[in-house]
Amino acid sequence: MAKDKLQGITVGKKNFSEWYEQVVLKCGLADKRLENSRGFYGYPPWGSKILREVERLFESELIEKEHSPIRTPTAIPVTLLEKEKEHATGFAPEVFMITKGHGGKDLEIPKVLRPTGEAVMYPYFSYWIQTYKDLPFKVFETRPSFRAERTNAIFPLLRTAEFFWIESHTAQVSNDDADKQVKEDMTIFKKVVEDNLAIPFMLFKRPEWDKFAGAEYTCAYDSPLPDGRISQIGTTHNLGLNFSKPFDVTYVDKNNKKQFCHQTSFGMGVSKILGMLAAIHGDDNGLVLPPKVAPIQIVIVPIYYKDDEKEAALRLANSVKSKLKKFRIKIDSRDNYSPGWKFNEWEMKGVPIRIEIGPKDVEKNQVVLVRRFDRNKEFIPISDLSSKTIEKKFEEITELMFAKAEENFKRAKADSFEGILKEINAGIHLVEIPFCNSQKCVEKLKEETIKVRGVQLFANGEKSVEESVETSRKAAKGKKCAVCGKPAKEIVWVARQY
Ligand SMILES: [Zn+2]
Repeated sequence: MAKDKLQGITVGKKNFSEWYEQVVLKCGLADKRLENSRGFYGYPPWGSKILREVERLFESELIEKEHSPIRTPTAIPVTLLEKEKEHATGFAPEVFMITKGHGGKDLEIPKVLRPTGEAVMYPYFSYWIQTYKDLPFKVFETRPSFRAERTNAIFPLLRTAEFFWIESHTAQVSNDDADKQVKEDMTIFKKVVEDNLAIPFMLFKRPEWDKFAGAEYTCAYDSPLPDGRISQIGTTHNLGLNFSKPFDVTYVDKNNKKQFCHQTSFGMGVSKILGMLAAIHGDDNGLVLPPKVAPIQIVIVPIYYKDDEKEAALRLANSVKSKLKKFRIKIDSRDNYSPGWKFNEWEMKGVPIRIEIGPKDVEKNQVVLVRRFDRNKEFIPISDLSSKTIEKKFEEITELMFAKAEENFKRAKADSFEGILKEINAGIHLVEIPFCNSQKCVEKLKEETIKVRGVQLFANGEKSVEESVETSRKAAKGKKCAVCGKPAKEIVWVARQY
């Protein structure tokens, strides 16, 4: 597909994988065509603009919660990565290594392209944090990171070798403060991803064998794809003292004693979220973007047949545009394309609202407003058109998008292995089961490419991660593991994952 015309989606969403690949490329989200670069993508203007908006939403929430932006190096000396043993071992299979430097000479100390920031950010923490007055220390970095994925696992935006994310890291006085930080991360994630992007997710405490390498515990956000699989789009970890000890992240307390910081980290997968926006909200005609992140929120298409009609339609279009100038709004006045062609193009790109202005509308001093989500059409008198009416429409659209996505998020329960397979093969995203937590049962599920996602968090008004695990353990009492039939220890959720 080197120089093909990138017009029109030619396959329906029910053929998810092919549809998705077409949407990503043809709607200008990401481009995988660079030679010898599997897993590395270019992001054309449309996709980059959406990415920036997603980043801005997270960044403004983080800043609101008193996190500060920082920048740290992309390449980490292996000597630093190896300081936390579990961390180094966990990431070893996934790191790209830089071994040569100036003049093609071997580097004395090879560097890795950072798979995550802990090992390169925390040495700076040790320089930048002095006393208890510097705590909590809360920072974030918006940047690409790199993981060497198996080539057959690569899937546009959802599983890539280079990905974009925001990683937020904190240093705290106590473990309680770290737990509170993890909960604050969850409110940030919910506000951006559910309330603004209309993407539903479930929150889990990952099982011990699947937690972040070096963490005390890991909480993760899983979202549903139309083909029945799920994707992890964010994580937040309580790191305990596991990194502050090897990296000497310490502070002097009120009694002038040196103490280790309790730490947390929080990853928001922004390029994955770009993929999820396409996968969850898109339809047979292309993207459907939530208004908050659409690069163009309103497109005005003037419709005319004669010169004087053109002039009148454009005049009205301009006055509408200046009325609504607080939004990202564009008048598509290109002469060489028909209105129908323009409609298709902006629908494919997912612009949330289209305003049509034809000769009849000029006459009646009104516009036709069409929303991309469901093509609902209304006639609105110019006098009723204001920033407020549009804001209300954007809210309505976002709520409708979320309701639809939530409806398509399929969950079920099972109490036998056959039951699990039946549900998962029928396209159920997440299945709740009693589980014994044995590696044998984990492996048996893995053979069917099913993974344990963990215990659901805060489902019944629990106040802490610990309390959620307690609830799950109580509920498992007297139940049998759905895989092996032995006594269950916890109620967990399982799924197929990208
Ligand atoms: Zn079992």
